[in-house]
Amino acid sequence: MRKPLATFRTLAAAGALALAVVAAPLPAAYAVGEGPNYDGNGQITTSHLATYDQMVSFLKDHDARQSAMELEVIGQTVKGRDIHLVKYMTDPAKPTILYLTQQHGNEQLTTEGAMEFIRHLGTGKSGSILDGVNVLVVPMLNADGAMGDVNFPLDDYLAKGDRHLTRYNAEEVDLNRDHVDKIQPETQALHNNVMQKYRIDYMIDLHHQGTRSERDGKLVSGSILYPTTPNADPAVVEKSKQLGAVVFDNVDSTGWGHLGKYAGGSAETISRNGIAVEYGIATLLFEMRGMSDHFADGVALGARSNGYLIKQTVTTLTSTAAAIADGSIADADTSFWDTLATQTSRPGEEADGE
Ligand SMILES: [Zn+2]
Repeated sequence: MRKPLATFRTLAAAGALALAVVAAPLPAAYAVGEGPNYDGNGQITTSHLATYDQMVSFLKDHDARQSAMELEVIGQTVKGRDIHLVKYMTDPAKPTILYLTQQHGNEQLTTEGAMEFIRHLGTGKSGSILDGVNVLVVPMLNADGAMGDVNFPLDDYLAKGDRHLTRYNAEEVDLNRDHVDKIQPETQALHNNVMQKYRIDYMIDLHHQGTRSERDGKLVSGSILYPTTPNADPAVVEKSKQLGAVVFDNVDSTGWGHLGKYAGGSAETISRNGIAVEYGIATLLFEMRGMSDHFADGVALGARSNGYLIKQTVTTLTSTAAAIADGSIADADTSFWDTLATQTSRPGEEADGE
């Protein structure tokens, strides 16, 4: 699988004309909307992704410039990195939504999208959304995994360069299986200083999945799911389905967005289920296509897909905040869930779940 990369590098070095030649004969499988695979016409490279330090600088810069924004440290990772909460809390009586990114360190484009969303809130590009909703963002919960600063080897990870990104935290624990026991410091920070401290109505937990899932014969740009534990209050599940309806309507209609239903389990160790049950919060899982790094072939996605996946995150965050702010989420039609096909995977998919 390394040969196409070498070919691509050589051609890329030859300049724009060569790139045009590469782009022309691509098979339909790599058309817009499905996104290029790394062995098609992109490379797995992490140099363009924000490092933890760059993200913190960005957050501090916007905290200084945006009067509506507050930045709080809610705890530290295993390796001592501060975990941040971005707050736009203008009126506690308004409904509140929490966006959570990078519980899994190798799923970074959701964080890149959240940063873009924060930038838009500062410039007013998202309109007067904040008049009607409180917004909380916890970006890059698993900063140690995101920076590859972990107590286990990452030698077999595929991304080029010095930085590797891994699903697990520094202790090789999957944080999205720790929402009942809450043993890891990252999980404790989220629960003690966010979930238990604010009256949160909605949460979107943002992830990435592998590259080869499809719905109706076409590779998906992502998949979504509401709480599926039988212990969740049916009213909370219905609100979660409405949150999903807003996302589906706004993403699937774009032309580049194509969403399936995620095949997720009912374990309450997973935030989508556990947080819905423990706090009565409406939750939505969003799994975007392709991870930033991985050891398995076919799971990580080439950098050329980044643009539309970041845009997919911004669209998701902006549309849901707006629908809560203007109250239209209460009218969201959840019947599409009855016909939305559960995604299936093409051969070669070896992605970690949720
Ligand atoms: Zn994940």
